[in-house]
Amino acid sequence: MSTAKAPPPSKLAMVPFVSVDHMMKLVHAIGLEQVLIGLAEYIEQDFRRWEMFDKTPRVASHSSEGVIELMPTSDGEVYGFKYVNGHPKNTKEGLQTVTAFGLLANVGNGYPVLLSEMTLLTALRTAAMSALAARYLAPEGARVMAVIGNGAQCEFQVAAFKAICGIDRVRLFDVDPRATSKALVNIENMGIDVVPCTSVEDAVSGASIITTCTADKQYATILTDNLVGSGVHINAIGGDCPGKTELHHDILLRANIFVEYPPQTRVEGEIQQLSADHPVTELWRVFLGEAPGRSDRAEITLFDSVGFAIEDFSALRFVRDQLQKTGQYMNLDLLADPDDPRDLFGMLSRAKLENSG
Ligand code: NAD
Repeated sequence: MSTAKAPPPSKLAMVPFVSVDHMMKLVHAIGLEQVLIGLAEYIEQDFRRWEMFDKTPRVASHSSEGVIELMPTSDGEVYGFKYVNGHPKNTKEGLQTVTAFGLLANVGNGYPVLLSEMTLLTALRTAAMSALAARYLAPEGARVMAVIGNGAQCEFQVAAFKAICGIDRVRLFDVDPRATSKALVNIENMGIDVVPCTSVEDAVSGASIITTCTADKQYATILTDNLVGSGVHINAIGGDCPGKTELHHDILLRANIFVEYPPQTRVEGEIQQLSADHPVTELWRVFLGEAPGRSDRAEITLFDSVGFAIEDFSALRFVRDQLQKTGQYMNLDLLADPDDPRDLFGMLSRAKLENSG
């Protein structure tokens, strides 16, 4: 924070910061569904200009308890990154499994132009991305979705599928009934039918879309092959780390698989269970009309979601575009701003004199 006597930092040196509180107010000012629709639009725009972006699999630091990741990208004008963790054991200690923050910067001078919380924003963008993919992949007229895993991501997924795909009924299952009860209360206010279920088999009954969003640091089998009928779209978001998957291998062999960025998904996604040359389709090609999405009603489609840096870039871009409209940010004195750019030391020395005077 700047001292009382030091000259105020120039406007260029101030960085807009969106806190968790700002983000919540921003979402309510715009409306949850409009935010999800807006995020999906921004993600689709950026996926349609896929080839303009610098792309790299995220940089992951694994431990026995979880993972901490950095997710950078740039479109040549704006650079962005997200810091995100994944620690499935955290909820037992009253902490979130996933927390995040992120930044946009001007490529021309390297100065940050936005710093934002991204725990809420990640849940929103993951849900928007899932629903956007489903718009191209789910069977026409799909109205019922099963959600296996009713933790932090669950209601965001439901809200996005309602707003973007027209889902009007969800069937919920979690190994912990308290998670389902929590989700039930939140979803009841969304104007959508919600059915608590007692098993995965019960939940997927009659559902055209199956979302799996469980958290467990192991090769789990949330869905077995016999539970997946023809024509279903699977939105698998919980398998997003080496050694952390949700679907039985045989489902993958029957499905037409769509991914964000193959070099990352082959290491982190459900397809880590398959050979490195197993065919997958990149979603950006589907959005551009270069590759087909769902080709017939009987096909099983799978979005093997792991979360890619461009989605976070799009989400930050969306938030940045809402700042003037909503006023939901504060300026942070994040960058040193000496009068003479080469006199950084002088700025520090003068601050001591000013403070003692
Ligand atoms: P969370 O810990 O809040 O919720 C996970 C829920 O899964 C818990 O309620 C738990 O009881 C339940 N669960 C665990 N094993 C289960 C099983 N076998 N059957 C049914 N339910 C089970 O986690 P969250 O924040 O909701 O995240 C869910 C998953 O999504 C995590 O694995 C996270 O890493 C992943 N994620 C992916 C993306 C992406 O872009 N793909 C983005 C965010 C989170």
